[in-house]
Amino acid sequence: MSDFDFDLFVIGAGSGGVRASRLAASYGAKVAVAEDLYLGGTCVNVGCVPKKLFAYAAHFAEDIEDAHGYGWNIGETDFTWSRLLENKNREITRLNGIYRNLLSSAGVTLFDGRARFVDSHTVAVGDKTYTAERILIATGGWPHIPPFPGSEHVISSNEVFFLETLPKRVLVVGGGYIAIEFASIFHGLGCDVTQAYRGNLFLRGFDLSIREHIATTMKAKQLDLRFNTNVRSIERNADGVLTVTLTDDAILETDLVLYATGRRPNIKGLGLETTQVSLDSQGFVEVDKDYQTTDPSIFAIGDVTDTMQLTPVALAEGMALARRLFKPEEYRPVDYRDIATAVFCIPNVAALGLTEEQARKEGYSLAIYESRFRPMRNTLAGRGEESLMKMVVDKQTDRVLGVHMIGPEAGEIIQGMAIALKAGATKAMFDATLGIHPTAAEEFVTMRVPTRTD
Ligand code: FAD
Ligand code: NDP
Repeated sequence: MSDFDFDLFVIGAGSGGVRASRLAASYGAKVAVAEDLYLGGTCVNVGCVPKKLFAYAAHFAEDIEDAHGYGWNIGETDFTWSRLLENKNREITRLNGIYRNLLSSAGVTLFDGRARFVDSHTVAVGDKTYTAERILIATGGWPHIPPFPGSEHVISSNEVFFLETLPKRVLVVGGGYIAIEFASIFHGLGCDVTQAYRGNLFLRGFDLSIREHIATTMKAKQLDLRFNTNVRSIERNADGVLTVTLTDDAILETDLVLYATGRRPNIKGLGLETTQVSLDSQGFVEVDKDYQTTDPSIFAIGDVTDTMQLTPVALAEGMALARRLFKPEEYRPVDYRDIATAVFCIPNVAALGLTEEQARKEGYSLAIYESRFRPMRNTLAGRGEESLMKMVVDKQTDRVLGVHMIGPEAGEIIQGMAIALKAGATKAMFDATLGIHPTAAEEFVTMRVPTRTD
């Protein structure tokens, strides 16, 4: 018999925590999980899932416009925000219930409440304490809003999913995933959108061709993109309108300011000072390659650590950790190479492997294949928008190092490419693959002549 109440106590029932606890319980461990806010964590409640539902909603604007060229006569249309919100909330509540059932049917004990460490083997939830041989920190991240005069007037992604009314004008601040996705969402839903980014081109870290092409595409849709600027101050007028002064001295009036300037580890009040857990220089919980913190009985996975802040990464880490602790013979650390990712703006951006810039930095000699074309669907629709597909190939070995795309369903297409890259596919293998005609994806197996070579 163990001296502890539980073999594993997981703090946070988000993507990583739920996966780790369910799997650990399935291996016979006695597991508890504490959740403060919402089952399923950020992804299910204020992240991937509601965001994608909103992105679908926004896409209908273009679908309705495009229908005309295909012979459809669609009369006056309008949009009811409250109906989208109610339906979204109902779906999320359904998912919360599924998560609760998954945990209970796996035999995991669920505590509703905020957990904090009392010592390296003890966690308090409310006024009760529980001991555990091992404790897992899976508390995720929290939006970070930098301090500036008037910052109390802005919202983050936590609130954007629950707005009572759809604003007429929106300012989105930031140039990462959330900012670009929500600029597209608000634009699609009919708002006037301005996006302010402090650098000269948003989506830092993505391939330059992609960054330039999506900026051009968004500008062509009449999104007001402002680069090399930031918010200096915000004032709320008597009528509720927000007056925003930017660092380039521009002044604009808007109804809503959404800050999407990154997320920080969610460790406030967690009681880490009662343990030997250390933080790294950026404030993430420090772990080694096997998710072990500097405290021998405490582990951490997902967004609370310095990993890629993506749900599949948190899931994979949760699975790996459960195996490491309770089924070591099946343990393999997560392979962080060639993780595909998508930005669900309209049209989608998706990326996999090395960008051209990264590959050059790593010393590869490259052949670059790039194709820009109007997707067939856009022809009768009268939409000028072009897709972009790009492959980064190592000239020496012919291996495909990176695949990048902007276009409808780019996320769906690049997911398939990810398997090919994992398998070490060469350009010759792509060339030997027959396309599915007519699709956009077939372009990836028909690009024969490099756009440029080293
Ligand atoms: P989380 O899912 O954040 O879970 C942590 C949980 O711990 C939360 O439920 C929290 O309430 C709980 N918690 C925290 N502290 C305590 C405590 N002391 N006691 C008890 N419970 C606590 N990723 C993608 O892959 N694709 C996407 O499309 C995507 N879209 C996103 C859109 C937005 C707007 C945001 C914000 C994120 C998005 N992400 C997306 C990122 C993804 O949501 C995260 O990477 C993922 O949720 C991380 O999982 P996690 O388990 O580390 O943390
Ligand atoms: P990101 O890290 O993607 O982007 C943050 C942006 O804010 C960057 O453009 C950054 O600029 C800018 N920024 C940072 N600090 C400031 C500041 N003080 N003033 C002005 N701008 C600032 O974070 P997000 O908040 O967009 O999203 C968090 C994470 O969630 C993402 O990194 C991603 O991993 C995940 N996510 C994934 C999604 C998906 O898979 N589709 C969707 C949404 C989120 P700079 O580039 O100059 O540093």
